[in-house]
Amino acid sequence: MCGIVGYIGARQAQPILYNCLAKLEYRGYDSCGIAISNENLSIYKDTLNINELAKIVPILQGTTGIGHSRWATCGEPSICNAHPHYDCTGKFAVVHNGIIHNYEILKKQLIAEGHHFISSVDTEVIPHLIEKYYKGNLEEALEEALHNIVGSYAIATITSGENKLVAARKDSPLIIGVGESERFVASDVMAMLDYTNRIVHLEENEIGIITDSNVKIKHKGSYIQRKEHKIEWNSNATGKMGFEHYMLKEIYEQPRIIGDTLKTDYRNIKQIVSSQVVKDKEIAPLLILACGSSYHAGLVGKYIFEMTLGISVRVEFASEFNYYGHIPTKTRAIVITQSGETADTLKAVRKLRQAGCYVLAITNVIGSSVTHIASETIYTHAGCEISVAATKSFIAELAVLYRIAMLCADKRLEIADILAGAKQIADKGRGILDETDGIKELGEYLAGYNTVFYIGRGINYPIALEGALKLKEISYIHAEGYAAGEMKHGPFALLSPVTPVVAIVARDNTYEAMINNIREVKTRKVPVIALMEEDDDVVRGIADFVINIPCVNPIFSPMVNVVALQLLAYYAARKRGCAIDFPRNLAKSVTVE
Ligand code: GLU
Repeated sequence: MCGIVGYIGARQAQPILYNCLAKLEYRGYDSCGIAISNENLSIYKDTLNINELAKIVPILQGTTGIGHSRWATCGEPSICNAHPHYDCTGKFAVVHNGIIHNYEILKKQLIAEGHHFISSVDTEVIPHLIEKYYKGNLEEALEEALHNIVGSYAIATITSGENKLVAARKDSPLIIGVGESERFVASDVMAMLDYTNRIVHLEENEIGIITDSNVKIKHKGSYIQRKEHKIEWNSNATGKMGFEHYMLKEIYEQPRIIGDTLKTDYRNIKQIVSSQVVKDKEIAPLLILACGSSYHAGLVGKYIFEMTLGISVRVEFASEFNYYGHIPTKTRAIVITQSGETADTLKAVRKLRQAGCYVLAITNVIGSSVTHIASETIYTHAGCEISVAATKSFIAELAVLYRIAMLCADKRLEIADILAGAKQIADKGRGILDETDGIKELGEYLAGYNTVFYIGRGINYPIALEGALKLKEISYIHAEGYAAGEMKHGPFALLSPVTPVVAIVARDNTYEAMINNIREVKTRKVPVIALMEEDDDVVRGIADFVINIPCVNPIFSPMVNVVALQLLAYYAARKRGCAIDFPRNLAKSVTVE
């Protein structure tokens, strides 16, 4: 997702905008720019990174400005296509996240009316529409412009004629920050944490009119009151704390996160969650929807709930579900989104809520969009995750799913007892982190191959998917995750001595079958790395390499296995010299469908 920042206050805007933009670098971008308002607007943008942009832009005087880091969705990365965009008179500058579906029609109309366009980006229609409707009041012109627009947007705009920032949002996040005699806007709270932790959320279809001392919010023509609130995260979260990469730092935070989540007192929602998750279980399966790593967490959730609560669970990609018409009666759903802003997941929540379904959201970001539209929210305790590849947010989602199972299993003592064992998992996770040398060697070994298969069964099948996803995301090695039993239905044709297989072995009812699968793979002279419990001499005897995993109740094995696979991918990517925290072509949150 692109990054939006804005400043209005007593200080010079330019260095503050650079600093705010730098805080959003972790989200990935291909170009960036700033606009500062004084008597005129000064606009500078390029396909450089923020540091490089800062070096080529002269010092600009002005205490009001906007900035943007772009991750192109519509029009390739180029100077013209970078934001801010502006109108023919150069009086209005706009930064935008999201996508305008009807921009081609609007552009044609505006060209026919005499407007001149210089980019191929959807966003450029916004400053031209503002120019068209401007009669001396920026928010009124923006409001009018928005009536024409179909699509999603977070917008911040300034004009040389008025000393204010005007912002608007629909289906894309935007937050207002409150300081002493200064205000901020940003698409992500991380941008402004160096300056303030006092936040006002702009909600769907609202317009924010922001001066250095005031924030007014307008919804459908009327002004509304919105309380500010303080957020807990601080800007230290953006430090690496001595680790070489954010990803490694975040992997090492996981034992603490598991501990915190399992200890959290969710009493306030316990009643609702437990009645809703197991409700109507004979009529409709519980639906879990998510994308990417959160989808893999959802798949683990299926096994957890089916094993412990005896309910049927259906897990789908939110992006696919949105195009699937039928919602069974009495459907209740859990959606999982780290950022709370994943476009496909938000769309799925709206669809379910419109159909009258209960939706429980699991997210890491307080006040994010999903929290406004779901019936109920449970927060993970991962803290800010900078690395694009999810690690600690994945483990936190798993921890919450185990926690939900505990809440719902309250009356079934034997299940509650098993789940109570989860409390030791934090220590077991720490155990793996103390033994990274062997994993490092194996990661470096994988770095020499072009294709790797990950196999698992049962509750560790989603962990095979997640392990493969980590490897491809950050090391660019082609990796496939498979349910081990599926290998013979096709992928076996690809196996050879240059396609290592990473096999996850848990001592549950899948154990014997997994051993057979490893033996079959071995007959093709394929190198096998097995994740196995440390005292498993059978697996040690057949695999080429082993990663020792602390013994845990198999239901919790995903939490320890995934830590080993994250490290394996990390060391493979490090050996290959990849940009581990900011992999090519990927953005931290996917806010466009
Ligand atoms: N559609 C805008 C562009 O391509 C914004 C993209 C986004 O939000 O990811 O510049």
